[in-house]
Amino acid sequence: MSDSGQGGVAFVGCGPTGAQPQTTGRRREVVVSGRRVKTVDVHAHCGVPAAMALMGLKLPTEALLMSRPGDRLRARLLAMDEQGIDVEALSINPYWYQAERDLARELIRLQNEALAEACAANPERFVAFASVALQHPDLAAEQLEEGVKRYGLRGAAIGGSVEGAELSDPRFHPFWAKAESLGALVFIHPQGTAELEGTSRLKGNGVLTNTIGNPLETTIALSHLIFEGTLDRFPGLKICAAHGGGYLPSYGARSDAILTTFPDRCTGTLKRKPTEYIRQLYYDSIVFTGEALRHLAAEVGSDHIVMGTDYPYPWTSTSVDHILATPELSDAERVAMLGGTAATLLGIKS
Ligand SMILES: [Zn+2]
Repeated sequence: MSDSGQGGVAFVGCGPTGAQPQTTGRRREVVVSGRRVKTVDVHAHCGVPAAMALMGLKLPTEALLMSRPGDRLRARLLAMDEQGIDVEALSINPYWYQAERDLARELIRLQNEALAEACAANPERFVAFASVALQHPDLAAEQLEEGVKRYGLRGAAIGGSVEGAELSDPRFHPFWAKAESLGALVFIHPQGTAELEGTSRLKGNGVLTNTIGNPLETTIALSHLIFEGTLDRFPGLKICAAHGGGYLPSYGARSDAILTTFPDRCTGTLKRKPTEYIRQLYYDSIVFTGEALRHLAAEVGSDHIVMGTDYPYPWTSTSVDHILATPELSDAERVAMLGGTAATLLGIKS
């Protein structure tokens, strides 16, 4: 157990697994075309205080916790029940990319054990992405394999960059090779754009570091994975990008056009057009309006969109209704977005 009992409580308390609340309050059951749909949220945050403490950090919000004190797990399950979320795929945003190797090994072990415990305590409601120390790519590859094979985790959650290095940097190839060989889904969540935060460009009103900085970083990360040939080198990769993939899917044709507009300035050769790689990736549904989701589906394919909530951050509490109300989708497409595609990617039994 990784329970420090002093506000550093991790995922599960000391009681037996059966003591964990399975449901609280009234549970919304999502039905499409008369059939119950198992809904899956691929974008759900949590935290392990004991691991954060190794970096001298505290949880930014107690809502990231999944157990006592304060019955955070009960609150999470209640929110899931009310919103019609059957399963959350838990992830932890990287904060450990500066850690040296031994510290990173210990931190990730602690964290992945805690994630596994949280899932084991409520196997019907939670699966989780492994954390990996991507700043040490060979170690990250080991941690992903251990996460999947030993801890039953369903892939890896990584940042959109690693201390200024792009995910397409060849030093990360061992990690991508392992993810491809394991068939593990890699969830990319932005780290923000620290490079711009050193200037005044994102200062002022509007929380621009988050509002546009986060989707911008995802856009940059995916663009490099495409243009640097990472997706050619590892064609079997399964990648899911947060926040609808940032700005890339909304303007993907420009990435095709650059190849014919300035061919002399393109330094590498791709096997396919950039928009074909864009359609190969997966994206969460956090784009807020029906029209935005309809457009995302038109650009990437409805079978490459998976539901996300960003819990516990209150961006939305209507992810299910968002998908149900999006125009021009068939019921089969809605079922796929609500959980069918994610269940396949994450190995969740329907
Ligand atoms: Zn998020």
